[in-house]
Amino acid sequence: MKLKTASLSFNASGTPTSAEFDDVYFSNDNGLAESKYVFFDHNYLNSRWFSHSKNHFCIAETGFGTGLNFLLTWQCFRDFLHQKNSDNTLKQLHFVTTEKFPITKEELKLALAQWPELKEFSEQLLVQYPILTPGCHRLVFEQNQIILDLWLGDIEQTLPTIMTYPDGLVDAWYLDGFAPSKNPDMWQDTLFANMARLSKPGCTFATFTAAGIVKRGLRDNGFIVKKAKGFGKKRDMLVGYFSPDEAQANKAEELAKQNLNTDTTPGISENTPFNRPHAGPYQRTGVVTSSADKQTVAVIGAGLAGAQVALALQNRGYQVEVYCAEAAPAAGASGNHIGGFYPSLNADFSLQSQLYCHAFSYAKNHYRNLLAQGAQFGHQWCGVFFPGFSDEVKKRQQKLIENQVWPEDLVHYIDAHRAAKTCGLAMPYDGLFMPHGGWVNPKELVEALLNKAMNAGAKLITEYKLKALQQRGTGWTMDWHGRAQSQADIVVLATGAGTLELQVHSGLSLNDIPFTCTRGQVELLPDTPRSVKPKTMICHKGYFTPFYQQKQAMGATFDKVNRQSQVTESDTEQNFATIEKALTNCDWVQDLPAPVESRAALRLSLPDHKPVMGAVPHFDQQKTQYAELYKAWPASEYPLPANYENLYLLAGLGSHGLCTSPILAETLACQISGEPLPLNQELLASVSPNRFFIRDLIRRKV
Ligand code: SAM
Repeated sequence: MKLKTASLSFNASGTPTSAEFDDVYFSNDNGLAESKYVFFDHNYLNSRWFSHSKNHFCIAETGFGTGLNFLLTWQCFRDFLHQKNSDNTLKQLHFVTTEKFPITKEELKLALAQWPELKEFSEQLLVQYPILTPGCHRLVFEQNQIILDLWLGDIEQTLPTIMTYPDGLVDAWYLDGFAPSKNPDMWQDTLFANMARLSKPGCTFATFTAAGIVKRGLRDNGFIVKKAKGFGKKRDMLVGYFSPDEAQANKAEELAKQNLNTDTTPGISENTPFNRPHAGPYQRTGVVTSSADKQTVAVIGAGLAGAQVALALQNRGYQVEVYCAEAAPAAGASGNHIGGFYPSLNADFSLQSQLYCHAFSYAKNHYRNLLAQGAQFGHQWCGVFFPGFSDEVKKRQQKLIENQVWPEDLVHYIDAHRAAKTCGLAMPYDGLFMPHGGWVNPKELVEALLNKAMNAGAKLITEYKLKALQQRGTGWTMDWHGRAQSQADIVVLATGAGTLELQVHSGLSLNDIPFTCTRGQVELLPDTPRSVKPKTMICHKGYFTPFYQQKQAMGATFDKVNRQSQVTESDTEQNFATIEKALTNCDWVQDLPAPVESRAALRLSLPDHKPVMGAVPHFDQQKTQYAELYKAWPASEYPLPANYENLYLLAGLGSHGLCTSPILAETLACQISGEPLPLNQELLASVSPNRFFIRDLIRRKV
């Protein structure tokens, strides 16, 4: 879905100004000094960071605008981390912000050019600044020390979908946004009620305005509100903190003074906002019982999912051990020579498309960050071309373009002439082009991720195949085939196609997850005088790739019957037949050289083409918990889903692991460590391991 971007201009003082709101983004006098005074100083961040007892601190902001507040806070946090002789617990800053009318990258560059003192930070922001689609865009800076969640869309829609924890999520609010007189729609109860839902006890706020509507909204939702001297010529601003009990008592006292009956007069609501809604009966954000330090995590599986999650958790201070069933990592579906990297988008803004769109954007930045930090893996951001090779495909592509759901920069139409130029070979088909996609060598990527995790202290343990799991207190004992038992506080199953065996033998009730297994065989073609060398990835019914290390990949089969991973000649024939049939107008398909190598592996997926990520459900208990669900669906409140404690699952990535594994691993790591999540409630529910079970319960099929 396309977003309306900001109508930006610069006034006589050079300050960015919004035409929508007829207001300035920050003070004409000195925006930077205002930002520091109002938001940073009046949330008392400097002193609070020094005494913070957790590994991470979360600031939430209304209105990202030009990102000035964010960049200044980043600079301050960096100074804090670099203080000499400091032994602080706090290591990571989460900055969660919202924006209804995002500024285009070009205009952002102009707006930020006026702060040379922030150049180092704004340049990094511009590199990662996303393609503007609705939802959460997570950008990670400074080796995970600074995490920016940019929620694009109206606060009215975005804020209520952010997941929280039983103890809240946010430590400090920057209540920015244009003046209430210019932007009354934002300063409404949705904002204040969700601030209460997301705030930790003692969470502070600061805002430039002292308007009555803001004061009342905050007080009515559990905040203690005080006036402070405003910036520059401004008389007042508001500051305060979240303390629902105190606010309730104050309110009662006030009402008593006015001789009003506190039983009947509306005051602070008893139900919402202080009991904290969650993603229905789906995902549960765990109660974080102890810090990451010294907690051991066993990641079972050393494919893409396992390697990504291992790094994400090791980066957060967990002691990670990755168990690999084979002699070396990436032995299964993640072991291919070349994998296509692109989002799988539909013509509508379906949940599936949203998931892939966000996953893609996050993955691209993630890979770029890894490479910038010295990781090495084969890749090329060469773009991906999707030829419209049949009437059916053409119709689908046409609809995607006509619906105007996706920005041009993400996907656009090109005619056959341009297709030939872009792909660098005869390509007599119009089609769709995704310029930011490309290919990655998944095997090398897995190795790079694991090396990075191991450099940070993780261990890789090979030839350990999991047989069963037993719960021991809050931790787990793992039984291995032919090995002595071992223990871990937390277990993450990233077992790919191996999950099918665990469904039967692990002692866990994984059977209610309807995994399907699809065999895929890929051919590797040699570099010969006959070779055809595309400059981009070509995805028809199968795919045909550029060369890497003198080999190009062509594939892949989708076989739901054969569950063997031996290469077969008939699959090779099928791969040739598929490209010949799809690209029948390309003469070169008749003349491709025979493969020098073929490889087959099993992919795990789910009927709705989305992966599973989250805590492993206790299906028996959930059956009782949600027995009545069919009577009233959807309901306004649900019991928290019963899950196995400290046992998580990341699987079913199908053939899209290069795109989805980074964001899912990041989300899972955040869920385990109690950090803000980069997916909204709907998307979290859409990958929840119990989603099919709940659907069947509602239909009374279980
Ligand atoms: N914090 C910004 C900075 O550092 O540059 C300045 C913010 S500017 C004063 C206010 C921002 O709030 C604008 O970018 C505007 O588009 C955004 N905004 C206004 N109403 C909104 C809403 N309902 N939801 C989300 N963002 C909104």
